[in-house]
Order: sequence, then C-alpha cells, then structure tokens
Amino acid sequence: MAHIAIVGAGFSGAVLAQELGRAGHRVEVFDARAHVAGNCHTARDAKTQVMLHTYGPHIFHTSNQRVWDYIQQFGTFMPFVNRVKAITGGRVFSLPLNLLTINQFLGQTFSPAQARAFFAGIAEQGTGTPANFEEQALALMGRELYEAFFKNYTLKQWGMAPTELPASILKRLPMRFNYDDNYYNSQYQGIPRDGYTAIVENLLDLPNVSLHLGTRFARAQAAGYDQVFCSGPIDAWFGYDEGRLGYRTLDFVREDHADDYQGNAVINYCDLSVPWTRISEHKHFAPWEQHADTVVFKEYSRLCEGDDTPYYPIRLVAEKALLAHYVQRARRERNVTFVGRLGTYRYIDMHVTIAEALDVAQHYAQSLAAGVPP
Ligand code: UDP
Repeated sequence: MAHIAIVGAGFSGAVLAQELGRAGHRVEVFDARAHVAGNCHTARDAKTQVMLHTYGPHIFHTSNQRVWDYIQQFGTFMPFVNRVKAITGGRVFSLPLNLLTINQFLGQTFSPAQARAFFAGIAEQGTGTPANFEEQALALMGRELYEAFFKNYTLKQWGMAPTELPASILKRLPMRFNYDDNYYNSQYQGIPRDGYTAIVENLLDLPNVSLHLGTRFARAQAAGYDQVFCSGPIDAWFGYDEGRLGYRTLDFVREDHADDYQGNAVINYCDLSVPWTRISEHKHFAPWEQHADTVVFKEYSRLCEGDDTPYYPIRLVAEKALLAHYVQRARRERNVTFVGRLGTYRYIDMHVTIAEALDVAQHYAQSLAAGVPP
C-alpha cells in the first residue's frame, strides 16, 4: 500500500482522501488553513445560528448522476433552487435573463417566439465566433441588456473591460426564452442540510486518513511520499519562481439585521454607482430553518495579492502562457499530480472538482495495478 500526501482539504483533496483511503492506502492530508472544506467552508454563526458560507455562497448543482449519487453518501442535501435577482438602473429584475426579465426590462409582453425573433433582429453578430465576453454578450442579447446587466457587473467583478475577458465566463449563465428563473440548467441542485464542512469531514473520516490543519506542505516534503496530490495553487508549489498566476479575491463586509433584509439569498448589483457586486443573505440558503435575525454580506472583488485567498483564476493570455510553463514543470515532477480549481488554475464548480477527483483516484488505482507510474 502506498503512502500518500494530499495538499488541500477542499473537495478535491477530501474526495481523493476518501477514495485512496478506502483502497487501503495510508493518506495524510495537509491544509494551510485551520479548517477543512477550502472555500466551500461553512460554519454556524455563533450569534444568529445561521449557517454561513464563510467564503461566499456555494450552491451545489450538477447533471452528473455519478457525482450526485456519490456526494449524497456523505450528507443530506435539501432541495434549493437559486433564483437570483439583479438591480440595474434602480429597478429589480430576475436572473438569469429570462422572459420575465426581457419583458419587464423592455416593457413588452413577448411570447417565446416573439422574444427569439426580437433578439435575432438586434443581436450584434461579429464575423465569426465571439472572441471575448463582450462579443459573446452582444451576439446573444444585444447592447441594451448587455450594458444593463453585464458590462458594469463584470467590470466590478473582474477589474477589467469585458472585451479583455474570455467568452467562456458569460457562457456560465443561460439566457432563456421562457419564465424559468432557475440560475442553473443542472438536473440536480441542493444545499447540504448540515453545511459543506460536515460533508468534507465525513469524506475525511477514515482510520487510515490523517489530517494536518494549519500546516503548509513544502515541495521538498514530496520525496517522503510515494505520491502527492496537490490541490493548492500550482504556482505556489514552485515558489512562484516564474511569476504569479492572476486571481481575483473577494472581501465580504458583514451586516446584522433583524428579520429579513432583502427577501432573497442573492441580489446582484449591476450598476457602477454601487461598489459591491452582490449581497448574499445566508439564511435564505437554508429555507428549511427558522431564524429571527439575519446576516448579510456585501461582496467586493479585487486583485488577489500576497497572502489573500484566491477565488477566481483570471486566465488571460499572459496567465495562460505562464500556466503552460508551470504545467510543463509539473509534468516533470516525479510523483506529484495537480488537481482542482487552484491546482489546475481553472474556473470550475464543485461538481466538476468532485468528478475530476474521482477520475484521478481511479486512474491512480489503475496505474498501480498495471505497475506503471501514474
Ligand atoms: N455576470 C454579470 N452580471 C450578473 C451576473 C453575472 O455580468 O448579474 C457575469 C460576471 O462577469 C460573472 C459571470 O457573469 O463573473 C459569471 O457569473 P456567475 O454567477 O457564474 O459567477 P459566480 O457565481 O461564480 O461568481
């Protein structure tokens, strides 16, 4: 049996620990932070008892049956549908862009077919595949809706013009010609009844899996293990010696209120006159619970520097070139595999992280069985 180190106790690390631990390997998990679950960490607020998503809202959603079946072994998921609202120009609308948003914004009563025809008429199609976020938006929704809902929010969220950002970021959001206001297209959606932290703790709960919190794992320690799975930032592994990959980080400013503050879990602020991007009210992520008081967080985005917590990989051309350097070096590491949002520097959701960790564990088992290096 192998002696394995896992760097990071988020979903990637915890799923790998579960899979490799269950296969009988001796697993040690290291996390620099004092808690498990990475940026999915949740904790009950001592004052209000509301379950807080410490690093911002996380709504679990997937269409991957394997992931949905898998994760439910480690906790109970309560039904939750994310129905986001957005404020622009002093009015409240429904997101993602759907027929209600379109009709209210334009003062129309379009049917699905009429709305489709309208947008086909106003869409600003370039000469080929949209090259950036703005071109993608203009091709889909035309200039008026783009400027109202996306242009300024994106400026605040990413700190740069949407023309500089990849089209893939906009493709995370659907645009619908019906009244479905579910933020996600996924088949399954829910929030863990006891929080994400409990799920990660359950994943890590095996006798041959040990956990070292508040402990950084250095590259030099890898020699002491048969295999290392690193879900920490790939550039940090190499001491940032070729430069830092860009990330956005978030600041959350807490406010406590009585009763109900905004009547919804998430409201986006799409105007530049408001400095925050969104306000989340965490008790609305657990509608099955009763709380007299409420806690909200105003969310501000900025460039990640120094010891700030990385959230969103920026992935511009410069970053992709730097990433390619680190990936080349990663391939030459004898016994280290990089996984997860930070280890692979991709904007991926929890369900993708879990699916990939399951694949990596399976691949490792197959390699061992075949007697070849993973
Ligand atoms: N976005 C926007 N306005 C909104 C919501 C989203 O412009 O009201 C853009 C923004 O660029 C954001 C991207 O769409 O980064 C993806 O949004 P998503 O809600 O998936 O972001 P996340 O919840 O991961 O922060």
